[in-house]
Parts: sequence; structure tokens; C-alpha cells
Amino acid sequence: MPQALLPKVESELIKPWYRLRFSPAVESRFEEDTSARRSRHLVLTGIVTLSIYDLFLINDNIFRPETLAISAWVRLGVMTPLALAALYCVSRNLTPAMREATMAATVILAMLLSNVIFFASKAPYSFLDTFAFGLIPLVSNVIFSLRFAFAAATSLICTLIMAVFVVLYQPMAFEIKVYTLVLFTANVVFTLLANFRLESSERKSYLLLLRERLRNQVALEDNQTLTKISATDPLTGVANRRHFDSVLAQRWEEAIARQTMLGILVIDIDYFKNYNDRYGHLQGDHCLRHVALEIQQHVRHEDDLVVRFGGEEFVVLLPHVSVASAYRAAEHIRQGIEALGLPNEGAPHKPMVTVSIGAAVTQPAEGMAPSALLRHADEALYQAKGAGRNRSVLAPLEGGPVCA
Ligand code: GH3
Ligand code: MG
Ligand code: MG
Repeated sequence: MPQALLPKVESELIKPWYRLRFSPAVESRFEEDTSARRSRHLVLTGIVTLSIYDLFLINDNIFRPETLAISAWVRLGVMTPLALAALYCVSRNLTPAMREATMAATVILAMLLSNVIFFASKAPYSFLDTFAFGLIPLVSNVIFSLRFAFAAATSLICTLIMAVFVVLYQPMAFEIKVYTLVLFTANVVFTLLANFRLESSERKSYLLLLRERLRNQVALEDNQTLTKISATDPLTGVANRRHFDSVLAQRWEEAIARQTMLGILVIDIDYFKNYNDRYGHLQGDHCLRHVALEIQQHVRHEDDLVVRFGGEEFVVLLPHVSVASAYRAAEHIRQGIEALGLPNEGAPHKPMVTVSIGAAVTQPAEGMAPSALLRHADEALYQAKGAGRNRSVLAPLEGGPVCA
């Protein structure tokens, strides 16, 4: 995922300055990362704006006391509940377009109702309100900072609404009508410029941040892949010897600290040279994969480590295991491989792929070497081979190997 998104983010960064919207993949990631914060911002600023909008009742009372009832009804009875309902919707997970459209509709409604309030009165200074209407695009374009397309459309609609009311309002002199409309238009243009810049820098800094985050993720994933590759045997997919060495040292220390037993199985395919000679090296590789897979079926996935130790030899490391369960695991593996029924016609003991297993279990302690455990398991394997193959032999760490 980060690998796929990163080039898209890179190409967004070199797009022309006037292209605000991102490509669909980046845009949806942008919304995913920022929409909760944006909704919170809109709700908060919306509540502040609504409170100030209602505070304008003080002006209504001073400038047009004769229509105070209309003003109060429009502000408190219409605008306030509708705006609160809109803000409630914005706080619930609306789609980005619906969120912007809801806020835009609230702004347009505020503009319409403000015009109704001033228009309803013929008081001498009622028209003065129109000079304050510039606050509406200021809120919409800068404070709410609607996405540019919504901000531009909202500003245009608000300008048209205002133009209609102002032109039709009789008590206002022509020069004042022109003046207030020019002032409002200038306000719209300035705040739209600010809006564009705000959105553009918000998006740019988001892209830079996202690029950094994705680069870190990619580096981390590359690292994990490399670590995995360097720890894995490419033919069978189980751990390799290098990984085994570090895990053995680790498990050994843990066993000392927790006073638990540690077991090892050394598994060797019987007469594998004959197998290769008869069926070819490629088929031999195939057989090794089968055997590795079967071994994995009989170990505890969380705890045990299956290793290709080299050639046709595997090792299983069994932390916190009892002698009995280590031997049981060895027998399950041995029987499982025999049950695969892979033919090995060249094997003198049995015409099938079988394994011999040497098992050793000990309680690690300071002063003991992990290599001794491995050596004992190896000696047990040697015993198993000598005793006719296709068997498991258990070697207690103290004393010689014992045939089980
Ligand atoms: P034993 O029962 O005593 O273990 O006999 P063996 O034939 O299995 O043992 P030997 O050590 O004589 O032969 C091991 C063979 O494993 C020799 C080699 O060709 C084969 N071998 C080692 N690594 C690979 C490998 O990666 N792929 C294949 N196909 N064969 C391998
Ligand atoms: Mg062998
Ligand atoms: Mg061998």
C-alpha cells in the first residue's frame, strides 16, 4: 500500500499550482486523515459564528426597533435551529462533498436571512447592515475555509442575493447601493484569494507530511523483507542456519532465566543421495520442500523453530519442552514423513522417503554451551542411522545417547 501510494503523492507535489484536488487515491487518503479534524473545526467555528450572528439582535434593536420581532424570529426561530441541525450533521460522518455542501447551504441561508432582516425595515439606517455583509464571505472563505469550489460558488450566490435585495430596496440612494455592492464584491474577491491560498498550503503541507510517513513505512517494510530474506532458506522457506544461530543463543538465555528445558531435533533424510541419483536433483529439491512442509505440520507454530541446517538436514528448536514431548514431536514428524508415501526406490531399507531423528533435551545453565545440546542430538542421529534409519533416538544431555 505505501509503495503504491508514494509515487502518486510524488506526482501531486509537482502538479501545477492551480490544481487543488488530488487524484482519487490521494484525495481519499487526505479525507481519511483530515476529515475528523475538519468537521471538528467546522462545528466549533460554526457555533462561534452562530452566536455572533444572534448577537446582531442588539443592532436590530437599535437600528430597526419596529421590526425587532421579525429579526428575532428570523435569527432565533429560523437560522439558529437550522444552523444547529446542519452542524449536527457535519459532526456525524458526512461524505466530504455533503459536509462542504451543508456548510455552504448554511452560509447562503445566513446571507438570505440577513437580507430579509434589513429589507423588512424602512428605518433610516437599516441599510447600514449591508456594509457588514462582507463578514459573511469572510466567515465562509476564511474562517470555515470551505473547499475552494464550494467557497467560490457560495460567494457568487451570496453576491447575487445581496444584489437583488439592494437593488430592490427603495430607501437606499443609488450611490450607496453601488458603494455597498462594490465593497461586498471586493470582499468576496479578497477572501476567495485567501481561501485558495489556505487550501493550497493545507494540501501542500499534508502532501509533504504524507510523503515522509510513506517513505518511512516503505523503508521499514523493505527492512523487514530484507531481515526475513536473510533469515530464510530460499528453497524450503523455513529458517536458515544463520537465523538458527541467533535464535538458539536467545532461547538458551531465556531457558536459563526461566529455568525451563530446551530441546533440539536433528532430522536427516535417509538415503537422499540415492533419491537424487534416481529421480534427479530437481525432484530432490521438490522432496526437500515436502519434508520441510511436513515438519512444520508437527511443531508448535508460536514457539518452535524449523531450520534447514544444510543439505538434507533439518533442525527443530523446541523451547520449554519436556523430554517426553520432544520425543513425541520427533516421532510425529518421522511418522508424518513416512505417511507422505514419497517413493525412494533406491533406498535399501525401505522404498520410501523416510527420516532419522536425533533428539536432545536439557535444562540450560550458566557455564554450559548450547553447542553441546546440538552435538548430543547429532550423536543421537548417528545412533538412529546406525540402528537402521527411519527412527528417532533420544539423547539425555548427561550420559550417552539412549535408543528410545
Ligand atoms: P544417509 O541416510 O546416511 O543420510 O544418506 P544420504 O544419502 O542421505 O546422505 P549423504 O550425506 O550421503 O547425501 C546427502 C545428499 O543430499 C547428497 C546431496 O546430493 C543431497 N543434497 C544436499 N543438498 C541438496 C539440495 O539442496 N538439493 C538436492 N536435490 N539434494 C541435495
Ligand atoms: Mg541423509
Ligand atoms: Mg546428511
